[in-house]
Amino acid sequence: MRQFKTFSVMAGLGVVVFLAAPALAAPFAYHDYNSMVTELEGFATAFPGLAEHWTAQDLYGLPTVPDGAVELEHHILRITNESLGFDKPEVLMVGVQHGDEIVSLEVCLELARLLLESYGTDPWLTELVDRREIYFMPLVNPHGFNHGVRASPGTEGSEDMNRDHIYDRCDPGFCGDDVSLSTVGARAIHEVARRHLFRVLLDYHGGIEIIIHPWGSPLHDMGNTESPDDRIHNRLGLRMQSFGGPYNGLSPVGTSTDLLGAVHGPLDDSAYASSWDVANADATWPTDGWRAAAYTIEISNQKMPPVATLGGDADLLTPGGSEDGYVPKNLRVGLAAIDIAEPYLMWTNRDSIPTTITASETVTVEWQVRGCFEVDETRVRFGNDVDPLNTFSGQTAAQQQIAGTPCFGSPTTFSASVTFPSEGTYYLTPAARVDSSLLTQNNPVPPGTSPQSWLVRSRTEDGVLAMNAVEPTEINTITGQQFWGTEALEITVGEPGLIFADGFESGDTSAW
Ligand SMILES: [Zn+2]
Repeated sequence: MRQFKTFSVMAGLGVVVFLAAPALAAPFAYHDYNSMVTELEGFATAFPGLAEHWTAQDLYGLPTVPDGAVELEHHILRITNESLGFDKPEVLMVGVQHGDEIVSLEVCLELARLLLESYGTDPWLTELVDRREIYFMPLVNPHGFNHGVRASPGTEGSEDMNRDHIYDRCDPGFCGDDVSLSTVGARAIHEVARRHLFRVLLDYHGGIEIIIHPWGSPLHDMGNTESPDDRIHNRLGLRMQSFGGPYNGLSPVGTSTDLLGAVHGPLDDSAYASSWDVANADATWPTDGWRAAAYTIEISNQKMPPVATLGGDADLLTPGGSEDGYVPKNLRVGLAAIDIAEPYLMWTNRDSIPTTITASETVTVEWQVRGCFEVDETRVRFGNDVDPLNTFSGQTAAQQQIAGTPCFGSPTTFSASVTFPSEGTYYLTPAARVDSSLLTQNNPVPPGTSPQSWLVRSRTEDGVLAMNAVEPTEINTITGQQFWGTEALEITVGEPGLIFADGFESGDTSAW
């Protein structure tokens, strides 16, 4: 956690709550550095094509951190379906900036495990692994972790890593840390960040139970603390609160300055604003990609809560589930963040739609709109072009749902019947426009600044918003769209009795 404005507040919130601890079928436990490395290597071995494991030392040539005879490294795990490429919405999960807040490592590891072990069995989690690149830096302060202390060794001495990032630096001489990225862990995060375009960052901590977001630096600590993206920060924060659920109480949501106190160089403000409020970012370390919706997730009132409160792996997707605890709760917080990275549509009856029909028949399409808060408009588009989302000759009536949670949890299933005007080959897709309300602002600081986050801009603007090619082997782009669709379905509409003659290519015997 951050330092408090008022330490009596911390004492009040730090009361240990002894929860009933029933025997769990598969309880979570704490890792040490070596068992974490074994775990990460095991993920990459057990799930080739889904998980990759590196260190920042391997990738970027950063120095190791000596600890006695051991050279500690900064580990990186990526989870995505690699067969679908590497130009997908990216999300970053960070753990243990503060070395004694070790519960954050366990949340990262178990979230990674859940995604991998659910692939191919849980439809939603499979979609997330297919459609996202999820990066984990689960232990960015291994030296502090090994010694059970908050600080990390850096070039300015023993440092607080969450004051070491590039936004709103401390003026020289006014605090102990006025040089950016002087810890290897902060530098490692920067090297990852400048090669990617993260839509969401979750920075897990422990010591209090809150979900906080920008503004969080002294630059914005006077009066109103609302960022230009306060609406998405608040909406997603409340979703994470709700899906995290009631274990030891719902976690309050608010700005870092309001709920905890402002600090120079925090990761959340740096990840949110460094690439657009460049006047207040350290020009020594430029990045094009830091426009993430960024959160500090404070997991538990204790930095190392008792093992019995970590929970177990039954019923992980259910808030308040049978083995709930701090790990399941905050793993669900992570899933909500991964889900929102980009709107996506799931076609729930695609397999049962006939691909060859006669002109008098109709087809019924059922779909869900996900990765959003509100469905402003959704319908089925169709035509003879292979890209019916953008080039269509017909569409069904618009439907809308802006109340409740149509896109998440138990999403609304929309349905429409399509009748084709004539014979021919048609392509169709459900389509949706979402979340225009995120453009609504109250009193943003800086005044007059429109939403800057990739999350908002990529769903409310059209066209290429960003391209990142620091690594020639991995080019990342963000292309904004106001309408979202999914893989089109080809349907052949034929004259009754002549379907097969028109509907199949020569030599195709699959119908017989
Ligand atoms: Zn912390």
